[in-house]
Amino acid sequence: MSSTLFIGLGRMGAPMAIQHARSFHTVVFDLASDTAERVAAKSDAVALSSLSDMPESIDTIILMLPSSREVEELLVGRGDLLTLIKRDSIIIDMGSSEPESTRRLAAQAGGFGIAYVDAPVSGGVPKAATGELSILVGGADAHVARALPHLRTMGSKIIPVGDVGTGDVAKAVNNLVSATNIAVACEALSIAESSGISRERMAEVLNSSTGRSQASELKLTEYVIPRNFTSGFAYDLMLKDMAIAVGLETSTRTPVTRSAFDVLKRGRASLGTEPDHTEIGRLYGLGDPPIAGEGLSP
Ligand code: NAD
Repeated sequence: MSSTLFIGLGRMGAPMAIQHARSFHTVVFDLASDTAERVAAKSDAVALSSLSDMPESIDTIILMLPSSREVEELLVGRGDLLTLIKRDSIIIDMGSSEPESTRRLAAQAGGFGIAYVDAPVSGGVPKAATGELSILVGGADAHVARALPHLRTMGSKIIPVGDVGTGDVAKAVNNLVSATNIAVACEALSIAESSGISRERMAEVLNSSTGRSQASELKLTEYVIPRNFTSGFAYDLMLKDMAIAVGLETSTRTPVTRSAFDVLKRGRASLGTEPDHTEIGRLYGLGDPPIAGEGLSP
């Protein structure tokens, strides 16, 4: 029998593992206690309590961890997973990782005869729950072909973008645009409000006009205007993605996204512990109660 080990069952990983387990025998693991059991209780997946008890049948490893730091720690740091996985296995890293780290890990995995693909996702928790994510894939053609049946269980749009690491590049650049979009959409509501147009009416204007974006259509209407800020994508993960994209910049001709990054990085200090990324709205006075001081002051 062939099995998949799915590691990282957070806001995204849990619904993705549940989708995956509908088509493949899936063993699930997370560092946080009880998380694997909770996912197993809701799906056909089997919970694993320790990686040292990994079944022999595992030949595919899917990772959905916060950042490259955790991926490195697991594969070549304390976890030393690369030495525990069978030759001819494949690792599919679906988190939003750093392209350089991914390339290094892929080379190290290759030394053990293990294939490696980066396949970060877009669409957030709602699309993870329905198996309709967009998945951006980097890797050698044969490795990508092997990953595809697994990816199809979680995504409705799968885009191969190039060699290993390019999925991570595409994801970081996408999120730079996405974060800039939500910042500018919140900025627009605050400008309109100061001229007497309600935030609800301005969102309606944007969403039926050329200022429309996924940020205005989904994030303003579902999370910012109702002031629940519950998108499930952490502000700090958004900043991580923006930092990756800004770090790839090789020219000085990116002033718009660069200044969005600087503004949102500065705004972080005004928010509490583990804010949702839609709390950008609070920096623009769209929260209740308003945050103390000016969220975006230099
Ligand atoms: P999360 O913080 O909710 O979940 C991460 C999970 O990984 C946690 O359950 C944590 O316990 C587990 N974990 C950490 N280190 C581990 C280890 N060594 N072994 C086993 N488990 C470990 O994060 P998330 O929101 O699910 O995001 C995961 C990745 O997906 C990130 O790279 C993020 O940038 C990306 N992403 C998130 C969203 C979103 O909307 N939340 C959307 C697209 C992409």
